[in-house]
Amino acid sequence: MIPVTKPFLPDSKEYETYLEGIWQRNWLTNNGPLVNELEIQLKEYLYIRHLLFVTNGTIAIQLAIKALGLKGQIITTPFSYVATTSSIVWEGCEPVFVDIDPKTLNIDVSQIEQAITPDTSAILATHVFGNTCDIDAIDALAKKHNLKVIYDAAHCFGTTYKGKSAFQYGDVSTTSFHSTKLFHSIEGGAVFTPSADILKRLAYMRNFGHDGPDKFNGVGINAKNSEFHAAMGLCNLKHIESILKSRKEQSLIYNDLLQDLEIQHMEIQKGCGFNYAYYPVIFHDEAMALKCKKALEAFEIFPRRYFYPSLSSLDYVKPYATPVSDDVSKRILCLPLYHTLSQEEQKMIARILLRAQKY
Ligand SMILES: *Cc1c(COP(=O)(O)O)cnc(C)c1O
Repeated sequence: MIPVTKPFLPDSKEYETYLEGIWQRNWLTNNGPLVNELEIQLKEYLYIRHLLFVTNGTIAIQLAIKALGLKGQIITTPFSYVATTSSIVWEGCEPVFVDIDPKTLNIDVSQIEQAITPDTSAILATHVFGNTCDIDAIDALAKKHNLKVIYDAAHCFGTTYKGKSAFQYGDVSTTSFHSTKLFHSIEGGAVFTPSADILKRLAYMRNFGHDGPDKFNGVGINAKNSEFHAAMGLCNLKHIESILKSRKEQSLIYNDLLQDLEIQHMEIQKGCGFNYAYYPVIFHDEAMALKCKKALEAFEIFPRRYFYPSLSSLDYVKPYATPVSDDVSKRILCLPLYHTLSQEEQKMIARILLRAQKY
């Protein structure tokens, strides 16, 4: 069986060395030493000043919306994982969908301005598949209209924009360290912000608003992560260069093997140093995408319709016309891509796809 992705696992011995320390200290959660150590190592690795390790990438978005005090409408993309939209609704705001660019698959910046109303408080954009948005253009628009910017950078571990970590941009960037992501801590995520004030607010919010044992600073929630999750993050961070390298090599192999397949690739945004987190392919039409999916499934190979359906079709949002996102989401598949995927398996996948398209 070849799934669309497999979590990276370090040698179990590496994880066990951290477990001994946890047992010695008897300190399992509540921002313990391993959480602290992971935050320090991530800051060093990413060259980033402020970040907080949290429970998952969804609560990271919710914290960002709350910490920025967003109200009313938030302009967002219909082509993302459902958590991007559901977090907006969960926080009592209204998602306003702006269609995507058919080449980069990210929010189409040229259509943002016409969607801004007096009720708009922010732009929440996803860097889809690890390919950054046109960050400069979005930031300039936000400045002009006095809007906050949140980037859902769940796919962006290892991605850069203009030479710096993609996490560094926006009023807040969020990411996910879920097992299926390129870098993971089983479950987990992080919030990033250049502002020391926003960081402080996020830190209170992560821990119920606690300001000492019997004092509170504002409303909070429980977004803390455990020592066990931090330990997995620390193990995996030691392997990150090899994970990034193999993703790139496998992607280039796919490029080579699939040259004769009639597909369109996502265009990488100018200024973006791509992390090769996913391998999306866009077919000519939905019928061909489904035919190829079925052909692979007959060999126990499971690509994923990612992202499908377009989020503007959710039944708890106001309907918006997003024809490009609707169309692309029907024609796109993410092919299997993970650390241990072999060249032989990639060749088999390519053979099946080419045959399915021909006959
Ligand atoms: C995975 C993902 C999330 C949610 O992260 P979790 O850690 O699973 O909560 C949010 N947005 C995008 C784009 C994602 O891919």
